[in-house]
Amino acid sequence: MSVAHRVLVVGAGGLGSPLLRLLAVAGGSGVEHITLVDDDVVDESNLHRQTLYSTDDVGRSKIERAASVLHELSPGLSVRSVDGRFVPGTAMDLLSDHTLVVEGADNLATKFLVADAAHLAAVPVVQAGAVRWAGWAFCALPDSACLRCLFEDIPRDGIETCAEAGVVGPVVGVLGGLEAALVFRLLQGERPGGELWHYDALAGALRKTFVRRRSDCPLCAGEIQDLRVERYTAACAA
Ligand SMILES: [Zn+2]
Repeated sequence: MSVAHRVLVVGAGGLGSPLLRLLAVAGGSGVEHITLVDDDVVDESNLHRQTLYSTDDVGRSKIERAASVLHELSPGLSVRSVDGRFVPGTAMDLLSDHTLVVEGADNLATKFLVADAAHLAAVPVVQAGAVRWAGWAFCALPDSACLRCLFEDIPRDGIETCAEAGVVGPVVGVLGGLEAALVFRLLQGERPGGELWHYDALAGALRKTFVRRRSDCPLCAGEIQDLRVERYTAACAA
């Protein structure tokens, strides 16, 4: 018997566009509901990588437009649109009742917040990030390595954001597709926790490695037990 899955998607941009299309049209995957969180509007300068949108959508709310595209693709799919940022105050409420969370945010603070919230809620999470010609996708389960095992913490010295450095459209297309593949594997009962996929379009390389838990990871060791705001205020991105 198929199980009805509810998927929380944080970010409806470059990573979210291919991911959402693939989730919506995968009839046999069991995805019955998608909750979509984003606070942005469609910008002409992002259309090369945000393939859910067209020039007619410029200036419109991304989640409003994304929800209507998803309904066109899959009329039976239940979609809830949350027009706002994924923030500590509402993160745990948004996560409840979801099978898993997929993150395609454009900043590292949100990536760490999603990682922490998913771990505290014991919900599987799939995450990705990209700059220029390369990027990564990662899956964490409650008992596997987490994003903090991989990156430790939000860098305090500013690093380039995707908006500053730019990212090539096909790169986020590949990474959004890799996120969808990890989601479908989770929904089929596989446990790809700790898998890190790295894609470099210039080197022509797609590589999978396995991240192990760090013994000093504050999230896995249980030191982080809440989502206090100051932990997520560094202005950085991926
Ligand atoms: Zn960890």
